[in-house]
Amino acid sequence: MAILKFQHARETVIEQVQSGRRALTPEAVSLSESLERVLAEPVHADRDFPPFPRATRDGFAVRAADVGRVPASLRRIGEARAGVAFSGTVGARECVEIMTGAAVPAGADAVVMVEYTAERDEWVEVKQSVAAGQNVVPQGSESRRDNLLLSAGRRIGYAEIAMLAAVGRQTVSVYRKPRVAILPTGDEVVELAVTPGPYQIRNSNSCSLQAQVASVQAVPLPLGIAPDREDRLREMIAEGLRADLLLLSGGVSMGKFDLVEKVLADFQAEFFFDGVAIQPGRPLVFGRAQGAFFFGLPGNPLSTMVTFELFARPAIALLSGEPDAPLLFLRARLAKDLRRKPGLTAFLPALLEGNHDDPVVSPPIVSPVEWKGSGDIASLTRANCFLVVPEAAEELREGEWVSVLPR
Ligand code: AMP
Ligand code: MG
Repeated sequence: MAILKFQHARETVIEQVQSGRRALTPEAVSLSESLERVLAEPVHADRDFPPFPRATRDGFAVRAADVGRVPASLRRIGEARAGVAFSGTVGARECVEIMTGAAVPAGADAVVMVEYTAERDEWVEVKQSVAAGQNVVPQGSESRRDNLLLSAGRRIGYAEIAMLAAVGRQTVSVYRKPRVAILPTGDEVVELAVTPGPYQIRNSNSCSLQAQVASVQAVPLPLGIAPDREDRLREMIAEGLRADLLLLSGGVSMGKFDLVEKVLADFQAEFFFDGVAIQPGRPLVFGRAQGAFFFGLPGNPLSTMVTFELFARPAIALLSGEPDAPLLFLRARLAKDLRRKPGLTAFLPALLEGNHDDPVVSPPIVSPVEWKGSGDIASLTRANCFLVVPEAAEELREGEWVSVLPR
């Protein structure tokens, strides 16, 4: 069937999930529980922001026209503090003492910083001119009442929490978390509680996948280990397809006991691809059956983890209600020459080092860590990113700018 190039495979996942995802269900949560959830409703301003013309400096609220020529002597007629306005109007050659965050009183149109003034009794000498509007944020200039502030589909971070709090939201409508079934396969795979026999492998994939699913704020549903036997695999896949997304690991290569695709086909599955020109992770399978999407992730632990990051993570973001799911790559300089056989886009475990504070003077440097193939979990624990080697590249040179995907 179809082996796609990396970008094509990514676009396929995004298009299929965007167009084929089930209707999203909203639920109400308290503001404090909403962090990292996806907003299910648009949020509008309940008042003007700022709600009054706000002084941004301590000083004196004046009419700019009165201080066009300096020094100018103005009569101090009152005080405005944060939370307590001055109720009168500033007339010609008058001023009001004002603190940062206070409302600029009627009549005044600018604030002179206290540093440019001297006070004597009720008189204030202004030594520097100000333009109208200076040191004042006009009412409604950040947002007018009823304006859209946050759209549905936005992931709630700390800035969104601040915005929701600023409009007085104590509860928020967010999309229900997608449920992601996790089904490792393999006769050699045993649970953690079991002491593995000489040819058995502990089920680390289920654990890393649960961690990755939880890190995108989805609900992991570990289903236990499916043996390489059609009848049992069929039962467990049927259970997994009741979730929003099914992640299988293993059983997608060409071996006699790689049964995942065959059994999925029995569910009238639609396969969008069953291979991607990437390393690690080439035998990746993506499709849909019974309304649920599935990924057949290759069983080698690095392949499982990388293909999750490249494909399943964005798919889950979309199933969570986000409108799109870009991968954010960083740019870094390669530490030393790298040669390899072209043809696959590689994601090599790598270490990003250097002074990230000043990318011009000392850009981050990336070097691949030593790894012994896609079973080598330890190599990934020594890495903090994946170095991306473009499909056609045979050689990358020391000092060259390369893309890295942080992990
Ligand atoms: P497969 O893709 O089924 O051919 O699996 C490839 C290799 O990945 C196996 O030989 C195992 O060493 C390893 N593997 C498969 N499933 C798991 C798992 N659940 N946890 C850890 N390693 C696994
Ligand atoms: Mg297997």
